[in-house]
Amino acid sequence: MNPTQETRDKIAVALLAWFQRHKRDLPWRGATPYGVWVSEIMLQQTQVVTVIPFYLRFMERFPTVTALAEASIEEVLTYWAGLGYYARARNLHRAAQRVAEEFGGVVPSDPVDIESLPGIGRYTAGAILSIAYSVPRPIVDANVIRVLSRVFGITGDPKSSVNQDTLWGLAEQLVPKVNPGDFNQGLMELGALVCEPVEPRCDTCPLLTFCVAGHSPDPTALPEIPPRKTAVSVTHVSVLIRNEKGELLLTQRPLHGLWGGLWEFPRVILRVGETPQEAGLRAGREVAGYEISLSKQIAKIKHSVTHHRITLYGFLASPLDISPLEHPHRVLWILPSELDRYALSAPQVLLRNAIQMLLVEEKQGTVQPILDFMPQD
Ligand code: SF4
Repeated sequence: MNPTQETRDKIAVALLAWFQRHKRDLPWRGATPYGVWVSEIMLQQTQVVTVIPFYLRFMERFPTVTALAEASIEEVLTYWAGLGYYARARNLHRAAQRVAEEFGGVVPSDPVDIESLPGIGRYTAGAILSIAYSVPRPIVDANVIRVLSRVFGITGDPKSSVNQDTLWGLAEQLVPKVNPGDFNQGLMELGALVCEPVEPRCDTCPLLTFCVAGHSPDPTALPEIPPRKTAVSVTHVSVLIRNEKGELLLTQRPLHGLWGGLWEFPRVILRVGETPQEAGLRAGREVAGYEISLSKQIAKIKHSVTHHRITLYGFLASPLDISPLEHPHRVLWILPSELDRYALSAPQVLLRNAIQMLLVEEKQGTVQPILDFMPQD
């Protein structure tokens, strides 16, 4: 697919003019290369409105690559807690340490150097280079896929290797030498504000003249995204073990994998034929290293991660004996007032809220038997 130079120029002029007039005022506009980098990592899989407060807090605490490189991963995860996809934070931290050591704390502007950093692939490199350094490199994200598929009438699964090659090839041809950063941001902004998935506003679109889908009876027919995989249901059980001093036990997840490095109330996945209560006792024994007794269920939480639908039970428990098993996880007894200092995954935050509410009710003598929480995401 090869648009002529004349078409490419016209698209760039129309899009840049539109972007100047309609771009949202976002905290990372005009940021340093490091600020652009942080924003691009946070924006992966996450909506702009969600990212803004996290970005502001993160940049206040870690205003430079060096500040981030010198911080502990525990502290970085605390500032990331609630954003999800924690591998992003771990990669960002490791990459900042490499930039500090190998590039003098300056985010590299060379494509090979920047793509050698953990967590920076073709898309993020293109975004940082074009936006922060005005290097004409292409970007292709979900918004760009939608706009380009519709403008150029690309059929078939946009994730197929053939279509990925076509999309990246088009993005590369289109990005102008002058203002490549604004052009790329314009494409993404157009996808977010005008060329929306369900209701594209073609009548106000600066690219309507060039657009195949915009002149078709149903512009939303493109891109042809295959139906999602059906969700797998899984049940998790956590125990909130409270000792006689009123302290609660937290365990830290291994650094890699889902929720890596985050803290949580000891948790296991329910086995076939096991009741949640039996799984709770197992969580005490195998994860926390304690034989425990369960006193009550304090929460039942529904949560989705990628295509897993998780139901999480939370039981209040007391330690009986040290388990004869060697417990494999890092554990910590902390006061309930200290819970907010530890980075927890989104469903574990809801368990923390449940125990904090229970403690208030205990003080007031108004304890409810079971609390059900239904998070939005
Ligand atoms: S004309 Fe419609 S379908 Fe085409 S890019 Fe604009 S909003 Fe999207």
